[in-house]
Amino acid sequence: AKQQGGNKIKFFSADMNEQALFKMELEGYLRKALQKNEFFLTYQPFINFYTGKIIGAESLIRWDHPKLGLVSPLEFIPLAEETGLILNIGNWVLQTACGQAKMWQEKGAIDFTISVNVSAVQFQGINFVKEVKEALEKSGLQPKYLKLELTESVMLQNVQYSIDVMKELQKLGVQISIDDFGTVYSSLSYLKDLPANNLKIDRSFIQNLHANTKDMAIVRAIIAMSKGLELKVIAEGIEQQVQWQLLKEMGCDFAQGYYISKPLSAKQFETFLATGSRT
Ligand code: C2E
Ligand code: CA
Ligand code: CA
Ligand code: CA
Repeated sequence: AKQQGGNKIKFFSADMNEQALFKMELEGYLRKALQKNEFFLTYQPFINFYTGKIIGAESLIRWDHPKLGLVSPLEFIPLAEETGLILNIGNWVLQTACGQAKMWQEKGAIDFTISVNVSAVQFQGINFVKEVKEALEKSGLQPKYLKLELTESVMLQNVQYSIDVMKELQKLGVQISIDDFGTVYSSLSYLKDLPANNLKIDRSFIQNLHANTKDMAIVRAIIAMSKGLELKVIAEGIEQQVQWQLLKEMGCDFAQGYYISKPLSAKQFETFLATGSRT
């Protein structure tokens, strides 16, 4: 039995070693990814439910590594946060997204808005507001065309500090979106104090909307509450027409999801801009 236990431990630790090694390898690659130009942004459109017009897009980062292939942000963003690399990566995303939005505006996409995901580490960093300002100045994008997507867990880390930073950002004229709303056990009481402009209903409520009367009740309530708080409501993860139709009837403002379009490369997005709209 002793020997067996020994083997077990050995086996277990070998497995752990392998995992740790892979993480170290990944971290090594991640450190070089920016300078090697391995990141690119994809863009997923937002549509106005009632006009069918494209109002903007969310930028979503991709990492294309020569050996590993495409690595999901769900995999490398946590590692980037752990190592602090997210500060430079996040700044690159901000600059690239703002520059791209400005370019599309110049090509005729009037009032085009770009949404950028912001990690907690990046948001809590001391240079964050300055970097937002710089990205706007460098690109020439007007602040009102930039939306920063913050999750509730980003804001809940340090509520008062977060509110102060959000207020500074709003003073610049930038918009704030609350991302993945409803996924954290959070109190509603702080919502009224949050300086935000938009609220994104998490995909988990949209997925079975048509089949689940409880999801329907929750989504209806979120939309009503948002109207009262003067927040625009975005539904993410719309995959089917029936979900689109229900959300439209409920008075949701903006739509996003595979039903409209998957995230697209910059080039594909330009084609979508030229041809795509949906009612
Ligand atoms: P998120 O901000 O909630 O982004 C939505 C995710 O859902 C994206 O996954 C998007 O491709 C996917 N999605 C959109 N529509 C649908 C749909 O109809 N059905 C389904 N099943 N999925 C849909 P993605 O691109 O893999 O990104 C995952 C997460 O990684 C994002 O979740 C965000 O938290 C993070 N992320 C992505 N880009 C960035 C970035 O530039 N900076 C930071 N800090 N985080 C990022
Ligand atoms: Ca997002
Ligand atoms: Ca989201
Ligand atoms: Ca989500």
